[in-house]
Amino acid sequence: MSLFADTKLKYLQKGMVDRVKYLDNLHNVILPSFIKKIQQNDKTVLKEVVLPEWLNWDLLFDWASQIKIENGKRCTLCGNGNEVGILFKEKWICDECLLRLKDV
Ligand SMILES: [Zn+2]
Repeated sequence: MSLFADTKLKYLQKGMVDRVKYLDNLHNVILPSFIKKIQQNDKTVLKEVVLPEWLNWDLLFDWASQIKIENGKRCTLCGNGNEVGILFKEKWICDECLLRLKDV
Protein backbone atom coordinates (compact mmCIF):
# COMPACT_ATOMS: atom_id res chain seq x y z
CA MET A 1 0.00 0.00 0.00
CA SER A 2 1.17 3.53 -0.63
CA LEU A 3 2.11 5.89 2.17
CA PHE A 4 -0.88 8.01 1.31
CA ALA A 5 -3.38 5.13 1.41
CA ASP A 6 -1.70 3.81 4.54
CA THR A 7 -1.92 7.14 6.34
CA LYS A 8 -5.53 7.63 5.32
CA LEU A 9 -6.40 4.21 6.70
CA LYS A 10 -4.58 5.01 9.92
CA TYR A 11 -6.58 8.22 10.38
CA LEU A 12 -9.77 6.38 9.52
CA GLN A 13 -9.08 3.75 12.18
CA LYS A 14 -8.38 6.47 14.73
CA GLY A 15 -11.64 8.15 13.81
CA MET A 16 -9.90 11.30 12.61
CA VAL A 17 -12.56 11.98 10.03
CA ASP A 18 -11.50 15.56 9.42
CA ARG A 19 -8.08 14.48 8.28
CA VAL A 20 -9.48 11.77 6.04
CA LYS A 21 -11.82 14.30 4.48
CA TYR A 22 -8.98 16.73 4.01
CA LEU A 23 -6.86 14.10 2.27
CA ASP A 24 -9.77 13.15 0.02
CA ASN A 25 -10.16 16.76 -1.00
CA LEU A 26 -6.50 17.57 -1.49
CA HIS A 27 -7.01 18.09 -5.20
CA ASN A 28 -9.30 20.99 -4.30
CA VAL A 29 -6.63 22.54 -2.12
CA ILE A 30 -3.61 22.09 -4.34
CA LEU A 31 -3.67 23.28 -7.91
CA PRO A 32 -2.21 21.22 -10.75
CA SER A 33 0.61 23.70 -11.23
CA PHE A 34 1.60 23.00 -7.62
CA ILE A 35 1.09 19.27 -8.02
CA LYS A 36 3.61 19.42 -10.82
CA LYS A 37 6.11 21.13 -8.55
CA ILE A 38 5.51 18.57 -5.80
CA GLN A 39 6.14 15.79 -8.28
CA GLN A 40 9.46 17.43 -9.05
CA ASN A 41 10.20 17.50 -5.30
CA ASP A 42 10.14 21.30 -5.37
CA LYS A 43 9.47 22.33 -1.79
CA THR A 44 8.88 25.99 -2.59
CA VAL A 45 5.24 24.88 -2.82
CA LEU A 46 5.14 24.78 0.97
CA LYS A 47 5.61 28.53 1.03
CA GLU A 48 2.71 29.10 -1.34
CA VAL A 49 0.10 26.66 -0.06
CA VAL A 50 -1.19 26.68 3.48
CA LEU A 51 -1.30 23.12 4.73
CA PRO A 52 -2.08 21.61 8.13
CA GLU A 53 0.95 20.74 10.24
CA TRP A 54 0.25 17.01 10.21
CA LEU A 55 0.49 16.88 6.45
CA ASN A 56 4.18 16.33 5.83
CA TRP A 57 6.12 16.48 2.61
CA ASP A 58 6.49 12.70 2.17
CA LEU A 59 2.75 12.29 2.37
CA LEU A 60 2.18 15.15 -0.04
CA PHE A 61 4.78 13.79 -2.42
CA ASP A 62 3.23 10.33 -2.36
CA TRP A 63 -0.19 11.80 -3.05
CA ALA A 64 1.06 13.95 -5.92
CA SER A 65 2.93 11.09 -7.52
CA GLN A 66 -0.37 9.29 -8.02
CA ILE A 67 -1.97 12.15 -9.89
CA LYS A 68 -1.73 12.28 -13.61
CA ILE A 69 -0.97 15.73 -14.93
CA GLU A 70 -1.52 16.21 -18.59
CA ASN A 71 -0.90 19.22 -20.72
CA GLY A 72 -2.73 20.66 -23.66
CA LYS A 73 -5.97 18.79 -23.25
CA ARG A 74 -9.44 20.17 -23.65
CA CYS A 75 -11.12 20.99 -20.35
CA THR A 76 -14.34 19.15 -19.54
CA LEU A 77 -15.84 22.20 -17.87
CA CYS A 78 -14.88 25.25 -19.90
CA GLY A 79 -13.94 23.55 -23.16
CA ASN A 80 -10.70 25.46 -23.40
CA GLY A 81 -7.44 23.87 -24.25
CA ASN A 82 -5.28 24.72 -21.31
CA GLU A 83 -1.71 24.39 -20.19
CA VAL A 84 -2.15 22.70 -16.86
CA GLY A 85 -4.83 20.53 -15.37
CA ILE A 86 -5.57 17.22 -13.77
CA LEU A 87 -7.45 14.12 -14.63
CA PHE A 88 -10.16 13.93 -12.01
CA LYS A 89 -12.68 11.08 -12.01
CA GLU A 90 -11.87 10.37 -15.66
CA LYS A 91 -12.47 13.99 -16.61
CA TRP A 92 -9.76 16.42 -17.50
CA ILE A 93 -10.16 19.72 -15.67
CA CYS A 94 -7.99 22.76 -16.18
CA ASP A 95 -6.22 24.79 -13.55
CA GLU A 96 -8.53 27.78 -13.96
CA CYS A 97 -11.71 25.75 -13.51
CA LEU A 98 -10.29 24.04 -10.44
CA LEU A 99 -9.54 27.45 -9.02
CA ARG A 100 -13.09 28.57 -9.73
CA LEU A 101 -14.56 25.41 -8.18
CA LYS A 102 -12.48 26.05 -5.10
CA ASP A 103 -14.02 29.48 -4.61
CA VAL A 104 -17.60 28.20 -4.71
ZN1 LIG B 1 -11.52 24.68 -17.67
